[in-house]
Amino acid sequence: MLALGAFCTCSEPQVQSALPVSADQHPASLLSPSASDSLGVFTRDELLGQFNPAEHAGFERIPDAWTDKDGIYLRREVLEAYSRMKSAADQAGIELIIRSATRNFEYQRGIWERKWNRPQYMGWQDFDKARDILTYSAMPGASRHHWGTDIDLNSFENSWFTSSEGAQIYAWLTAHAGEFGFHQVYDDKSTGRTGYELERWHWSYLPTSGPMLNAYNHLIDTRDLARAPFSGAETADSLRVLAEFVNGLALPEGQDNTER
Ligand SMILES: [Zn+2]
Repeated sequence: MLALGAFCTCSEPQVQSALPVSADQHPASLLSPSASDSLGVFTRDELLGQFNPAEHAGFERIPDAWTDKDGIYLRREVLEAYSRMKSAADQAGIELIIRSATRNFEYQRGIWERKWNRPQYMGWQDFDKARDILTYSAMPGASRHHWGTDIDLNSFENSWFTSSEGAQIYAWLTAHAGEFGFHQVYDDKSTGRTGYELERWHWSYLPTSGPMLNAYNHLIDTRDLARAPFSGAETADSLRVLAEFVNGLALPEGQDNTER
């Protein structure tokens, strides 16, 4: 296993500064290694996807050979961890392809609005439309893909991961992704979680997404979604999007990010 520890500073960049820090220079919250540190590190705009990853200093472009998309980004420490995971996968004969990574609010709104306007929804109530779209797609402002910590790998079909090459890739990820900090947060719901259905392709870098979820739960409330400019935003409250979808996660044993 690689030396993950050397890269585990990602969630607390201000705390991990190489410069000497004294108590009178920094607020106490930055000196304690608790989860509350994340509140000062991540901005509301980052959590809601209101930024351009191409212009964000903490993000880096994914090498073209690793993805079938043009110009997509991840947080730097996430890309570093992914690079280590990809090397290990390559050595095992496993070919990982990034199909999606950071998607900001505007991008997610595009996905949402395309689905919202599907002909099959003609005559549906807004609540029912939103609930149906939420089977697999997040509301703009409520997607983990805003955070630069989550990736979609190889295929958007769960069935692809159950036979031949897909099954080998999924078995390898299930056995090894955790060694590099990645975890499948949308499982088959046998854990009792709520929210999106099974997504065998969606992997989250927990050393950063854990603190980001904590920050999201403290800084964002349902009005931030309900007032946002997209169709059906006002259903965010009645659909309990924050409680059931943003926090509807399968997490490793002992890792509880649902503190609110
Ligand atoms: Zn995804």
